[in-house]
Amino acid sequence: MHLTAGLHRSMQRHPDKIATVTGSRRQTFRQLVDRVSRTASALRALGLQPGERLSVLALNSDRMIELLLAGAWAGLVINPINTRWTAAEVAYALGDCGASALAVDDGLMATAQAMTDALPALRHRIYIGEAQAPDGYLCLEEKAAAASPMEDVRSAPDTLAAIVYTGGTTGFPKGVMLSHGNLWASLVGRMAEVPTPPHYITLLISPMFHVAGLGRMLGQTIVGGTCVTVPVFQPRQVVDTMARERVSDLAIVPSMLQMLLDTEGFNPQHLPQLERILWGAAPITLPLLERGLAAFPQVQFVHAYGMTETAASVSVLQISRDRDFLAGPRMRSAGQAGLSSEIRIADAEGQELPPGTSGEILIRGPMVMQGYWGRPEETAQALQGGWLHTGDGGTMDEGGFLYVIDRIKDMVITGGENVYPAEVENALSSHPAVAACAVIGVPHEKWGEAVHAFVVLRPGAALAAAELDQHCRGQISAFKCPKTYEFRDKLPLTAAGKVQKTELRKSVAKGSAA
Ligand code: ATP
Ligand code: MG
Repeated sequence: MHLTAGLHRSMQRHPDKIATVTGSRRQTFRQLVDRVSRTASALRALGLQPGERLSVLALNSDRMIELLLAGAWAGLVINPINTRWTAAEVAYALGDCGASALAVDDGLMATAQAMTDALPALRHRIYIGEAQAPDGYLCLEEKAAAASPMEDVRSAPDTLAAIVYTGGTTGFPKGVMLSHGNLWASLVGRMAEVPTPPHYITLLISPMFHVAGLGRMLGQTIVGGTCVTVPVFQPRQVVDTMARERVSDLAIVPSMLQMLLDTEGFNPQHLPQLERILWGAAPITLPLLERGLAAFPQVQFVHAYGMTETAASVSVLQISRDRDFLAGPRMRSAGQAGLSSEIRIADAEGQELPPGTSGEILIRGPMVMQGYWGRPEETAQALQGGWLHTGDGGTMDEGGFLYVIDRIKDMVITGGENVYPAEVENALSSHPAVAACAVIGVPHEKWGEAVHAFVVLRPGAALAAAELDQHCRGQISAFKCPKTYEFRDKLPLTAAGKVQKTELRKSVAKGSAA
């Protein structure tokens, strides 16, 4: 199947349902399909040919949705770009994937205009904002209005559909090549496990330059549900939009859940329409999950695990409110492999390990990427023996429930013992004064590495390192407890809301650690 197949389905079944809501602007599937087919036609009229890369630097909006779908409709390879990148980083990505066209909205124009690099492959700069197109940019809205609709190219499943850059949590982002079939398989896999009813109104908070946001949007076109967009994650605005638009479904990362719950005056009872919260992308701490479950007693919580390389989630867990489940170990799991994905735990040689043993998480299935764009060595390393080597550490129980422990690269080896930061972070964050924390390994003369904790306290809270240490020792073995603590006002986060441990390591290397 191809990325725009969902649009045809919704157009046939419920053309007059609302497809997108951005601010006060609403459009039906009929209107969306009309705009997408005209925009695709306008893109082709510029001379863009199937397979050429169309980069998009824009905040989530109906215009961005249309453009991504139009790119796929015209057979182009869409490349949504991280909006938090600097001009130099954007230029790097455009050069890296050899983009022929770059589309920019109002919010990102300053970044686009600050790019000074020569980009010989870039033939077109396209404006998708709401005002007058700046000099050097052509106004897509005008071109599309004058164009006649074109037929959908309906790309074959193994055709490249998108280049999506990884989150850049562990290093410089890599361009993941996803085919139409990859994205489709991932969507169908998720929907089989966690059905999305057509009445669902989704708040698209995850940016569409990550597979989570992109997949969310595509999924809504398939079921004929509504996508409500907000440009950036501002807790107050998110809560207001959810109440106003009667949002039923939210996909977030744990740090966003925390920020929502911490929003001043936040009252979950103002959101009676909310039916489901799906979280993924990073480990959640148990205290935070428990807070979420208590705040939203009527909401279904779903945990998803996946990555850019698998076009979004490969395993999901529906959190049951059954007492035994909540008290049992599976509550901490990432669920079982979804439809059509296979997951196994392997040793460093790729040999499958028995249940209960920790090793690297490997994944196989039709959603696994084609490779990293322009990086044959990294591709060969990631795709060995037909399995994607995720770099994530995990275990699996007898029933096939997956437990994601942490990134293998982040594991701290102290005095010969392995310590997974996520476990220590769980212990630290169960202290009521702790708002956020992150644990890394720092070089240590005696132990090789020592566990170092960065801690952000709740506003107004006071807590000494010794007291926190005491708390930690009550929760986990002494060798896992941080040797040193560093209190910060905030932690560096990626655009997906994950803690950038590379930045924290750099700051320690520069000598800011206590
Ligand atoms: P980079 O690959 O550039 O370092 P990244 O791995 O953060 O960045 P993504 O592909 O967006 O980029 O994120 C996927 C990773 O996020 C997974 O490999 C895993 O480490 C982590 N992750 C995703 N879902 C979960 C989850 N449910 N629990 C714990 N970790 C998760
Ligand atoms: Mg990764």
